[in-house]
Amino acid sequence: MCDTKKLTFVTVQAGADAVQVEARLKGLGLWPHPQLGVSGQFGFAIEPYSQSVEPAEVRAIAGVTDVFWSPSAHPLVDAQAHRAIEGWNQNNDFLLIAGPCCVESLEQIEESAQMVADAGALWLRGGAYKPRTSPYAFKGYGAQGLKWLRQAADRHRLKVVTELVAVEDAPFVAEMADVIQIGARNMQDFVLLKAAGETHRPVLLKRGLSASAENWLLAGEHALLAGASEVIFCERGVAALNENMRNFLDLATVAWMKRVLGQPVIVDPSHAVGRRDLIPCMAEAACVAGADGVMVEIHPHPAQALSDGSQALDGPGLKALASGLKRVAALRR
Ligand code: PEP
Ligand code: MN
Repeated sequence: MCDTKKLTFVTVQAGADAVQVEARLKGLGLWPHPQLGVSGQFGFAIEPYSQSVEPAEVRAIAGVTDVFWSPSAHPLVDAQAHRAIEGWNQNNDFLLIAGPCCVESLEQIEESAQMVADAGALWLRGGAYKPRTSPYAFKGYGAQGLKWLRQAADRHRLKVVTELVAVEDAPFVAEMADVIQIGARNMQDFVLLKAAGETHRPVLLKRGLSASAENWLLAGEHALLAGASEVIFCERGVAALNENMRNFLDLATVAWMKRVLGQPVIVDPSHAVGRRDLIPCMAEAACVAGADGVMVEIHPHPAQALSDGSQALDGPGLKALASGLKRVAALRR
């Protein structure tokens, strides 16, 4: 298990080869700066954006006399770093989750599930309770939509991700879903995070529209503390600076979440860019950045979609995306 505290300072024995110690620290993915510690002893301050390391690995370096940590604000999130998630990524395959924005009918979700299976993907998404910017927009079919979603998924042996928006729906959503999604607008609804966590399901936590990475991690801590088996972080774009884009896809934070913190992280390029033509390249970029997978919106008849039709891929579009991702995943380091 990874240490749940952040390494801050390493002291070095007088007369030890400090250059050698520094090289070994760097070799562990740490960013050391030579400095005098509070007691006046020579050592190295460790930058907070260094890799997480096992304390024993640092203590084992010849010349290191002591190591110091600051307690982490999200120890449960830190503890899930680098851990394989059962039924999720144990083969380290790049995951493709696809499905409509909203479950609109049994026929529509059945056709969507068929598209997902035809593309070789294993996970079906679909919203039954839709948080919409306009109060007049279609908000989903609720419990009926969830039953259609589960039925279609089961017929094609797919797993289900769906969004929970109200505390009282948590038990039923947990019964119908393999992973519970918390939407961007609700990332800091701590009562909802607790309700999701108490189902003991994995929680897929969308990043809030203008949430800092630290607040995102802390929201994950809420779900884990309440009992979520794990939290999978999902970057879906933050407030955009380009008015032609729906959002700004922060792939640098994805790379940092995965490659520095070792967290499970996926990318939703659909809500990030809001237009289907840019989804394949952003999905591939997410793969290169280090994401564990992507979640995309599809529709059997995008022009008739009741929500987010402009970003929905059709059957051929999904298949092209899946084969492009396979190629990129095979090449990535
Ligand atoms: C969704 O995935 O259906 C959704 C509403 O996304 P977000 O919360 O990221 O806007
Ligand atoms: Mn949508």
